[in-house]
Amino acid sequence: MRPGYWRLSQRRAPSGAHPSTRIASITARKGEPRHRSIRGLLLDMDGVLYHGDAPLPGALEFLQRIAGLPHVFVTNNPRRTPEEVAARLAAMGLPRPEPSLILTSAIATAERLALEKPGFSWFAIGEGGLEAELSRLGERDPEAADFVVVGEGPGIDFERLTLAINLVLQRGARLVVTNPDTSVDDTHDGRHRVLPGGGALVAPIAVACGVEPLVIGKPEPALFEMACRRLGLAPAHCVMIGDRPDTDIAGALRLGMRAALVRTGRFRPDEDWPEALPRPQWDLPDLPGLLHALEPLLPTSDQRPPDPR
Ligand SMILES: [Mg+2]
Repeated sequence: MRPGYWRLSQRRAPSGAHPSTRIASITARKGEPRHRSIRGLLLDMDGVLYHGDAPLPGALEFLQRIAGLPHVFVTNNPRRTPEEVAARLAAMGLPRPEPSLILTSAIATAERLALEKPGFSWFAIGEGGLEAELSRLGERDPEAADFVVVGEGPGIDFERLTLAINLVLQRGARLVVTNPDTSVDDTHDGRHRVLPGGGALVAPIAVACGVEPLVIGKPEPALFEMACRRLGLAPAHCVMIGDRPDTDIAGALRLGMRAALVRTGRFRPDEDWPEALPRPQWDLPDLPGLLHALEPLLPTSDQRPPDPR
């Protein structure tokens, strides 16, 4: 795990400057293929399409507009199964996606571990969505697991920490975390709160064992690469839309995708761009603004695929 995630996710903008001086409606980057037609989209969800249980302004219109364009939903959140995520979107009044279009860090973790060791054994700390995906491709074995996998949600306690630590130190299990987020936003009884993310929950085991965990979710490549495989497209033909510079944007740009930031999530309209991170091709206040900016690159309304030039 890179300590940089920590610092960047905690960074706040100095106050005082007017938002209009901070946000370029479109961040022009010389030489970048910003004007190439878009053949596929990767969509982050929390902070892009919704906050808590409420859809963000323009989310419905955006999803209706891109309905004919190949797209997948990608989330670092490993807690819910794709079926649960689809039902949640529908409950908010958004279109219900096919569960196969929803890629979580739990799915990417299971597929990555199966590539490394087919039929792997695992012990996990995290909520149901993670265990469901690991069970699909591996076998739970708290006695002699190949991998100790940490996700998010309830389930961490002294006994489980002790078991995990000893699987790593005495059995040689590899420590894995579904996503590097140190904290994540949540809504409880209608009020915003902050929950510990995978990066925070894996820390006690990593510290006790003196090992670096294998990190799966954004900005690491596994989830992005799985999304491109699902779309059948090269990264250069895809655009990632997200709300976090350190995960959504940095990871996509590193793989050669174009990236678009909307400032409706963790990264706010008055924040300065973190100097250490590359800028996306688009940096907009919200989805309606982004849709306007992307419109010339989207398929026409009769849903013909765009010219691949
Ligand atoms: Mg997000």
